[in-house]
Amino acid sequence: MNISQLKQMMLLTAHQMIKSEPMLTELDQVIGDGDHGIGMKRGFSALIKLMDNPTFQPQNVGEFWVQIGTTLMTSMGGASGAVFGTLFRAGGKSLDVEKEFNAVSLARWLNQGWLAVHTRGGAKPGDKTMVDALSAAADVANAVQSLPLDEALSRCAEAADQGAEGTKMMVASFGRAKNLGERAIGHCDPGAVSMALILRFMAQYAANEMK
Ligand code: ADP
Ligand code: MG
Repeated sequence: MNISQLKQMMLLTAHQMIKSEPMLTELDQVIGDGDHGIGMKRGFSALIKLMDNPTFQPQNVGEFWVQIGTTLMTSMGGASGAVFGTLFRAGGKSLDVEKEFNAVSLARWLNQGWLAVHTRGGAKPGDKTMVDALSAAADVANAVQSLPLDEALSRCAEAADQGAEGTKMMVASFGRAKNLGERAIGHCDPGAVSMALILRFMAQYAANEMK
């Protein structure tokens, strides 16, 4: 996938994330403070502006993702601005000379991203955060590096979905949901659902574009 296709992919993803705002808001109202959907909407609206800006001409796929991360970090705010910004920025830094994004780049991007999110915020799998979706996707990405990108993305999205679904049964160790203790059981972590949605929308674009 080249840089112009990456732009199209993230444009579609951004529009779909904005549409998901009510559902994400509802989830964060149950176990957080209710602002997750709004933060995502703000971040992905800023991404649409970035994709539409003619002066945005990244020279390689790494620079593309770093810019996405910086935009999310500076527009979203909250814990998730730092967390998702870190994922995209660190993932991008690991790809800073590549002109094409493929299943091998996807694996590096997700794994370096997850490492950086862990280093920054300390969350590990099982803590009921977006890391549960991200780390599940990163593990699968390692195993599917020989597949075409659209199939690899679809497998990662599926794993992230299962990771997000798995947060339902967890007690939170981070963020505001921590204060709820056992009462958080039965509800998915909003950040994990966002992570799974981002990958699902990316996979949908790739499936249509790369047929
Ligand atoms: P805030 O917690 O500031 O209200 P949001 O509601 O936008 O921020 O985002 C909450 C989400 O951020 C959580 O659902 C969780 O997935 C994610 N999150 C919070 N802290 C961490 C952390 N240390 N590491 C990874 N993800 C985190
Ligand atoms: Mg919140």
